[in-house]
Amino acid sequence: LSADAYAYSLRAPSPGDDSPVIINSTTGQRLSYSEFVRRSKTLAAYLQSIVGLNKGDAAYILSTNLIQVPVLYFALLSLGVVVSPANPISTKAEVARQTQLCRPVIAFTISTAVHKIPKLRYGTIVIDSFEFELMMTSPRREMVDVKVSQSDLAGIMYSSGTTGNVKGVMVTHRNLIAMTGSYIQRKASSPVVLLQIVPYFHVYGFHYVFKCMARNETVVIMEKYDLEKTIDAVEKYKVRDLAVAPPVVVAMSKKAVTEGRDLSSLETVLSGGAPLGKESIEAFTAKFPGRVIRQGYGMTEVSGRISEALDREESSRWGSSGKSLGIWEAKIVDQEAGASLPPLKLGELWVKGPSIMKGYVNDSKATSETLTPDGWLRTGDLCYIDEDGFLFIVDRLKELIKYKGYQVAPAELEHLLQSHPQIVDAAVLPYPDDEAGQVPMAFIVRRPESKLDEAQVMDFIAKQVAPYKKIRRVSFVTRIPKNASGKILRKELKKISLPESFPKL
Ligand code: ATP
Ligand code: MG
Repeated sequence: LSADAYAYSLRAPSPGDDSPVIINSTTGQRLSYSEFVRRSKTLAAYLQSIVGLNKGDAAYILSTNLIQVPVLYFALLSLGVVVSPANPISTKAEVARQTQLCRPVIAFTISTAVHKIPKLRYGTIVIDSFEFELMMTSPRREMVDVKVSQSDLAGIMYSSGTTGNVKGVMVTHRNLIAMTGSYIQRKASSPVVLLQIVPYFHVYGFHYVFKCMARNETVVIMEKYDLEKTIDAVEKYKVRDLAVAPPVVVAMSKKAVTEGRDLSSLETVLSGGAPLGKESIEAFTAKFPGRVIRQGYGMTEVSGRISEALDREESSRWGSSGKSLGIWEAKIVDQEAGASLPPLKLGELWVKGPSIMKGYVNDSKATSETLTPDGWLRTGDLCYIDEDGFLFIVDRLKELIKYKGYQVAPAELEHLLQSHPQIVDAAVLPYPDDEAGQVPMAFIVRRPESKLDEAQVMDFIAKQVAPYKKIRRVSFVTRIPKNASGKILRKELKKISLPESFPKL
């Protein structure tokens, strides 16, 4: 097995294959398919013969979405080197923790992040440099083929750290091949141009590298997300599919910046990585008629995604994330009794399939809590499956608010709040209460001119939900902190918006 197994052999490039595979919308740089292959092979040969990288070594990568990143992924994977990409805005302490997990011999980073990287055996290579351009373009020696097997480690990916410290997720070549393979049956008949705003270091952007290659798609990338530039790129490159995290969907429909702009090429918006409410989908399609929002659901531990709404019809099940894909067995499990539940019953989603991680690096306790001995992965997400097999993700089990004997899903209330015309963004957290245990508390970002008050917010929700789900406290804040995959950082929100005297949540 070599890197060819992922993409090259799926679409063997002919010497004259000049169709673009990646375009950087910030710089205009574009790579054709054959140039992409040539560069990653030249780079692999350099890293093998000059730097001395060997199978089993780990490489830490800290970069924005540059074209160099997927070239580097293929080069390293073909050498059997374990790739470990992380968020370039990670602090020095976060980098230290991540590198303790992946134990790299080398790092690849952008010039502005070099200072964060600790001392490593083969040092740090700056990828937005002329030297790196030469490494990719000046052939020196032929690469000596490396025997890599499917059970070998391909990556150590970091979970988003939404519920605690980031975890290092061990992904094998088999995991990546299975995830890529699950996309191949659905190759589009006409060429697709996809604008990818999601980062390469997150599993969502990472698995798209292989998926887009395998499906002959042209990917337009953006170094840093910007709403106005997103619209520019859709117009300029005649983008058909847009892959984003939910806050982008909400921001686009709230601002409706596209008035008078040519969005006619756009057919589909793919949203994933965090919950997207029915209300946000409706608001978007009302502003941009004819467009489809396809929701996907995935996690780092499955090397990509579990389910995806495949077309307009599937997407019309508002709020669903589609059916679980062919490679998955899925069941809903009762948390207390541990038994499988019938359709429409709420419980934890368990999945089994070939792209489930090998485990968490250096954390056998977390691994055994997540992977069962007979191969099921406990997702930690509260879900239900309807009679036709469509999956609905309600919220994370860890984030449910316990009001008296009830469980309240913050995501449901957040979606409703976000649909209010005077609310820019919202988050709901548990607030300690002597009588009820916890009550739902809303953190609201109002429109600048808005006079919306606490009572109006509570009333807006009270009219739409069962009494036990009512918002019982409100705090107005200037922003809701979120991470790169669009998830609310609840711990940080508590830190920035609550007074010292606030009881411990
Ligand atoms: P950590 O595990 O470190 O706390 P994380 O779970 O946020 O972080 P990721 O692997 O990036 O790290 O995210 C996977 C989680 O994202 C899923 O378990 C689920 O809770 C959420 N998620 C992903 N897609 C969707 C979706 N379409 N709808 C609702 N939630 C989603
Ligand atoms: Mg998780």
